[in-house]
Amino acid sequence: MAVLKTIDLNKTFKIKTLKIRAVEKLNIEIDREQIFALVGESGSGKSTVARLLIKLIKPDSGHILFKGQNIWQMKRDDSMLFRKSVSIVFQDPYASLNPRMKIQSIVEEPLKIHGKLSAEEAKSKIIEIIKEMGFDETILGRYPHQLSGGQRQRVAIARALMLNPEILIADEPLSALDISLQASLLQLLTKIKENRKMGILFITHDLNIVRTISNRVAVMHLGRIVEEGHTGEIFKEPLHPYTRILMNSIPGFHRRNRKKTPRISTEERISWNLKGCRFFNRCDYKMAICETNIPELKTVKGRKVRCFLY
Ligand code: SF4
Ligand code: MG
Repeated sequence: MAVLKTIDLNKTFKIKTLKIRAVEKLNIEIDREQIFALVGESGSGKSTVARLLIKLIKPDSGHILFKGQNIWQMKRDDSMLFRKSVSIVFQDPYASLNPRMKIQSIVEEPLKIHGKLSAEEAKSKIIEIIKEMGFDETILGRYPHQLSGGQRQRVAIARALMLNPEILIADEPLSALDISLQASLLQLLTKIKENRKMGILFITHDLNIVRTISNRVAVMHLGRIVEEGHTGEIFKEPLHPYTRILMNSIPGFHRRNRKKTPRISTEERISWNLKGCRFFNRCDYKMAICETNIPELKTVKGRKVRCFLY
């Protein structure tokens, strides 16, 4: 049984008279010892998935199961266990740490809420994790503003690890950092995942990162997963027209047919094709059926693809 699983998850937001379908019929599984990447352009619904999975927002319909139990129907004890077992690191290391708290208090917070440790046990746990993140103890007496962006993000990860989660959700954790820091933080995350046999849901718009660290990848476009499978296989032969466009936009990748980096415009989000394939307006391969029918995810060449071409 997967640690975290969603079944036909739906979430719609209303903006004035508009209904934005942020997440539609989402079925994903996240397990220990794997890095599952959720990739898509900004506005594709990725962060909404993260917020649904940690119970920050409620789905309109569908289920989120933690070890088989619906997270919205749990008793108190199970709910506490869920909150300990699934933690999150957000995109912006500048906004996610309380500027008035010393690093010691920041990383200790989860222990105070959930832990039953003595002061001594708490202290040695904090030191252990701070060291795992590559710091020495002097960091504990500092404030967030005294740290660099990369250091802050490592503090945020330390805090997320404090209760030994089984799943870490990382929502664009590197995008506020410069490239040189990204590589070392990626290495660190991979090492942590291995040492702790933890699972990571890595949310990103950056396919180079996906290729570097994930075992599985799901490509999201306007609220729907359009392709999902083993990272290596999808990079070798992307099948969905949208996945191909994304891959063509990676520097140094499939360079021969490279096109401009795509981006979801507000108009596109508003005027998307409600009846049929959401990629219809941008697709070079569209057929009549694509305008009027929603393609389902089908198994093709060992992965799932949502497209009438297959
Ligand atoms: Fe293109 Fe049709 Fe496939 Fe959608 S279903 S991606 S419009 S070919
Ligand atoms: Mg986002």
